Amino acid sequence: MAAQIIDGKQVAADMREELKKEVAKLKEQGVVPGLGVILVGEDPASKSYVTAKERTCEEIGIYSDDNRLAPDTSQQELMALVERMNKDPKIHGILVQLPLPKHLNETEVLLSIDPAKDVDGFHPMNVGKMVVGEESFLPCTPHGVIQLLVRSGVTIEGAEVVIVGRSNIVGKPLANMLIQKKPQRNATVTVCHTRTKDLAAHTRRADILIAAAGRPNTITADMVKEGVVVIDVGVNRVEDATKKRGYRLVGDVDFEAVKEKASLITPVPGGVGPMTITMLMYNTVESARRTIARTSQ
Ligand code: NAP
Repeated sequence: MAAQIIDGKQVAADMREELKKEVAKLKEQGVVPGLGVILVGEDPASKSYVTAKERTCEEIGIYSDDNRLAPDTSQQELMALVERMNKDPKIHGILVQLPLPKHLNETEVLLSIDPAKDVDGFHPMNVGKMVVGEESFLPCTPHGVIQLLVRSGVTIEGAEVVIVGRSNIVGKPLANMLIQKKPQRNATVTVCHTRTKDLAAHTRRADILIAAAGRPNTITADMVKEGVVVIDVGVNRVEDATKKRGYRLVGDVDFEAVKEKASLITPVPGGVGPMTITMLMYNTVESARRTIARTSQ
């Protein structure tokens, strides 16, 4: 039987409705959650991500402080702006859109963000807290994947989870989050990568298979077992002359064939993608909530 499709757009829309209510409550307490956004340069993909983030802030009622900087912005100018946002009480989260132009030192910029405002969850302080299971900002894409599973009624506890990909933004944090000794975690996790000897032998064992390789058709139907839950994080452009823009977006999974064996599967687009921005908003609202908790102590 064909899989049920996990509608990421709908799950994200439901979460944004919840966040709107949360923001309204915070406003009653005199706090407007604020997100500082920094984009350096003219990269079209980065520009469209930032525009989508600003639009989502507006939808939810989050104040956004938008800063679009020239491609030749210096390290000092960028660091000064982050510092200004670190000190600004109206800003609860800081987002520096990556990648930065080559002349800028990305690591130095990310380290300069106050960990209490690091809503991307990339600061080593937050990464460390996540690993040891302390309260932190969870990175948005992996957290979005977990929300999709939980809100689709998938049992994560005790499941064999196989993740294909070990990047610092998806595979590694997701593995760390899923092995936590906590409700809705407690999975047994295998992480695969390009040096994995027999990828299919691992993926065939998965109750939950998460593909984050960035390569179309990394997962084909012969590589999964009947009833698997498949989350496709990959976003890849493949040439398509029938499309006006000359390409279409596909994930890492051979969707049409794998959906015939899976019990649940995410599409691309419309699966994980809409969750990422929503989780950024979630972290910003959470940061504002923590500010109130700190000041009332
Ligand atoms: P990345 O940094 O390029 O990492 C890819 C990982 O996949 C690496 O660990 C690589 O192994 C592994 N890999 C690649 N091909 C493989 C193969 N054939 N077999 C086994 N492992 C393989 O990519 P990323 O930043 O994690 O992103 C992964 C994908 O997710 C991309 O398509 C990206 O666009 C997408 N993404 C989507 C969202 C969203 O919001 N929807 C957010 C972030 C990323 P090695 O380590 O050995 O090289």
